Amino acid sequence: MESCIFCKIIKGEIPCTKVYEDEVGLAFLDVNPINPGHTLLIPKEHHENIHEMPDELLEKLMPTAKKIANAIKFSIGATGINIGQNNGTDAGQVIWHYHMHIIPRFAGDGLKHWPGKPYMLGEAEETAEKIKSVL
Ligand code: 5GP
Ligand code: ZN
Repeated sequence: MESCIFCKIIKGEIPCTKVYEDEVGLAFLDVNPINPGHTLLIPKEHHENIHEMPDELLEKLMPTAKKIANAIKFSIGATGINIGQNNGTDAGQVIWHYHMHIIPRFAGDGLKHWPGKPYMLGEAEETAEKIKSVL
């Protein structure tokens, strides 16, 4: 992908602060971190988001996410880790190359959990049926 910023990072055309690399993926610090150590893990192959990611690639990448989460926890003393992954504009995706956010968390760091909304009567069952119908 010619115009993809993360492909350019993989090719070394744009600099990054690399923390890990293997034949499948690359992990580097987010330029605008929620907390220091906030890391992005990307596949070297370009895929827009979860909907395009091949299962085999997801399988290969997930152990790396765990490796990096452990490293963040034990090196900088994070007392929690969020792993997040945005798919689509309405979910906050701005870079169209699949990436996982691995985010160190600390007590009182100011990041709030997302607000939950309870279901109306029968809505949970109806919603689950819709999802199950296409699985
Ligand atoms: P998204 O909202 O697409 O899930 O997240 C994109 C993330 O990429 C953002 O957190 C943003 O700070 C980060 N980002 C965007 N451009 C660059 C860049 O050129 N270098 C690095 N290291 N991070 C970037
Ligand atoms: Zn790309």
